[in-house]
Formats: sequence, C-alpha cells, structure tokens
Amino acid sequence: MTTKKSSESIKLSKLKKLIIKMKQITVSDITIDIVRKNIQNLHLAVYPPTGRVRIATPLKIDDEAVRLFAISKLGWIKKHRKNFANQARETEREYLSGESHYFEGRRYLLNVVYQNAKPKVQIRNKTYIDLYVRAESSLEQREKVMTEWYRERLKESISPLIEKWQTKIGVELKDWHVKRMRTKWGTCNVEAKRIWLNLELAKKPLHCLEYIIVHEFVHFRERHHNDRYVILMDKFLPDWRFSQSELKQLILSYENWNEGDAI
Ligand SMILES: [Zn+2]
Repeated sequence: MTTKKSSESIKLSKLKKLIIKMKQITVSDITIDIVRKNIQNLHLAVYPPTGRVRIATPLKIDDEAVRLFAISKLGWIKKHRKNFANQARETEREYLSGESHYFEGRRYLLNVVYQNAKPKVQIRNKTYIDLYVRAESSLEQREKVMTEWYRERLKESISPLIEKWQTKIGVELKDWHVKRMRTKWGTCNVEAKRIWLNLELAKKPLHCLEYIIVHEFVHFRERHHNDRYVILMDKFLPDWRFSQSELKQLILSYENWNEGDAI
C-alpha cells in the first residue's frame, strides 16, 4: 500500500468515526442493539447479567443484512443468554447435588454424598465433583469444605508456577498467599517480595492462573502498566492477552465474524 493511500484512509476513518448510529431490531422476540461504526467486521456480543445482545457493524452493511446475520447466529445468541440466566441462578449456591461448580475452567456437576466421616471432595469421571459431608451439615459447613478444597488445589497449581517464574524473571519471592479478593485477580508488594492470588482463580483455566502469576512477577521489573510493562509481558508470555480477555468478566460471551461469514 502506498503512503498516499493510507493517509487518505486515515482521514476517511476519522470522518466516519463521527457517524456512529445506534438502533434496535427484534429477531425472534429478542431485542438487538445495532451500532454502526467504522469497523471491518461484524461483532456480536451477549452481555451479562441480563443477556443484552449487541451487534456492531461496518457502516456499509444495511439493516436487512444485519437481520440475516442475527438470524444465522440465533442458536449462539440463545445459548449464551441461557448461560447468563443459569449463572444468575448459580449465585445462590446451596451445595446440593446437581449444581454446576467450576474447577480449572471446566464445569462440573456437584454430587453430595452423605457419610459419617471426615468431609472430603473428589473429582470423578471429569464430570462430577463429589462432596462428602455429614447429613446434618449446614450450608456454611458444606461451603467451607468446598472452599478449602479449592484453596488446596489452587496452591498445588501455584507452587510449580512460582518456581518456574522466579527463575525466568529472576526474582525470588519471600512468600505468596491465596486469599479472597473482590476486585483483583492478583496483587503484589514489590518491597516485601510478596504476591497474593485470588482464590477464585481455582475456578479458571490454568493458563489464566499462569497469566496472573506472570503479571505480578513482571511488576517486580516494572510497577506500572505502561509500554515497558507490555513489552515485558509480550516477551515472557506472548499469549497473555488471550488469558487477560478470558478473565474479563464484563463480556462473558463474545464472538467476532468476518463480513464474509455474515451472509
Ligand atoms: Zn498489574
């Protein structure tokens, strides 16, 4: 591409950015927000908690084409709306058989087994989490058994990763901890050479855990999320953006298609 051509397209894109139109269509009783802007591809997203659907489209794609696109993706849209409905229900956990519980990025069905012995948790057939508790156990007790199991499993996963990244980054930690945090996946104290990791990471895929560990380790080289920080992340963990986006809760379901796929 010549320099002249690209500078023209920049001017055009600046102009087009001003023309962002928003409207709604209804497909199969589902209201879809349509946003037109200067982009190359159609973006379809379903947002929690209500399952709001939004399609961002290039300016040149007309309503009818967007409608056809939405119809072609109805199965996907409905599946993710259903997931959000299920997730909303899951916030009230009772620790009873049949509930969905996540471990290392995978969904398991809880199976509660009553027995008069020390409580324990076991994974079975890559499908079930068997929770062994006494019949008279309270909700709080069942929750505590599960939480401690998550904590122990997570610590087992963290330990070799800390060893690995201490060597790679050249920083020796004084210690690391797992704790519940409301807003952060991880945090560190550079002076004290200490890292804290969120207990919720036990439910996420292992590559996400590794990303958070590397993220915290890189802070020992660069405190701020600046360009230097990004260069270091790219160097140590080239796929980090993928894990980062997976951990972002704002958009839990997201797909992106080329224009050509749309019609
Ligand atoms: Zn950070």
